[in-house]
Amino acid sequence: MSRFRAYYDYGIVIEYGNKRFIIDPLRKPGVSFNAVLITHGHRDHVNPRALHRASPIIMSKETAAIIRARDGDYLRHIAVGPGSRLFINDVLIESFNAGHVIGSLSYVLDFGDLRVGVTGDFNVEPSIILDGAKGLDVDVLIMEATYGDPDYVFPRRHELYNELRAVVEDGVKDGIAVFMGQPLGRGQELTVLLRDYPIYVEPSIKAINNILGLRYGMVADKPPPAGSVLITGIPKDITWFVKVLRSRYGKVRITALSGMYAKQSRVTRLRQFGVDAIPLSSHSDFPGLVDFVLSSGAKLVYTVYATPQNSRGT
Ligand SMILES: [Zn+2]
Repeated sequence: MSRFRAYYDYGIVIEYGNKRFIIDPLRKPGVSFNAVLITHGHRDHVNPRALHRASPIIMSKETAAIIRARDGDYLRHIAVGPGSRLFINDVLIESFNAGHVIGSLSYVLDFGDLRVGVTGDFNVEPSIILDGAKGLDVDVLIMEATYGDPDYVFPRRHELYNELRAVVEDGVKDGIAVFMGQPLGRGQELTVLLRDYPIYVEPSIKAINNILGLRYGMVADKPPPAGSVLITGIPKDITWFVKVLRSRYGKVRITALSGMYAKQSRVTRLRQFGVDAIPLSSHSDFPGLVDFVLSSGAKLVYTVYATPQNSRGT
């Protein structure tokens, strides 16, 4: 254990003996690594411009496809998926479903006498499109803890799904129902959940959905007709967005989706703009994080990525 070191340097660096790996680097690495591992396609975990000369890059084929569709970057990579086992310089790299977004992976680096797990963003609760993440059997666990605060306890997903459907039923009667959330994550989950309704999907979500084979819904390249459901990202100016929708449709039900809305103070702030909120998240809630740690058997746990302070959770 004395030769082990883990730290954050625009990416999670893991060193053991003469081996060094980096996970989700956001800057061009200044030193050499045995491999670069990418957990998933969110922009705060992958920066294609930092990776053009990096080798080898390990990620899922879905993550590579998302980067290509969204950023126009093709990165040479070794494709792995849940259950993959791969040796890089005598280190066994195992990949596991992270349950966060399509293509998201957790990794275990097995150095022979030390197993180190890196969750990336993860969710222990299954959704309509993903299985939940299972505990990793490791000595050291490096775990994201976005909602690492006891205030964050999410209702069960099937309850949130029922709440969403009720909003849709009401919203489409004589107006429009609008859902705002992360294009990668909420975009696919809502598309599949609401596929039997007349859904329109904003172009950036549609591009990701198409590459992942989710062909439901029409592309919202112009304002959809009344009686539809619109699935969109989070607009920069919510006040303006609400005003435009109100003037066009009259009746609008706008709902923001993120785990941060498990905190009532954040919901209250949003209501001032005429926007409702449902705490549908791609991350584990606090009890989920605690259970995950306990089931890992880790002797040492690092947490990374803080509780979000702004309105753009990942
Ligand atoms: Zn993420």
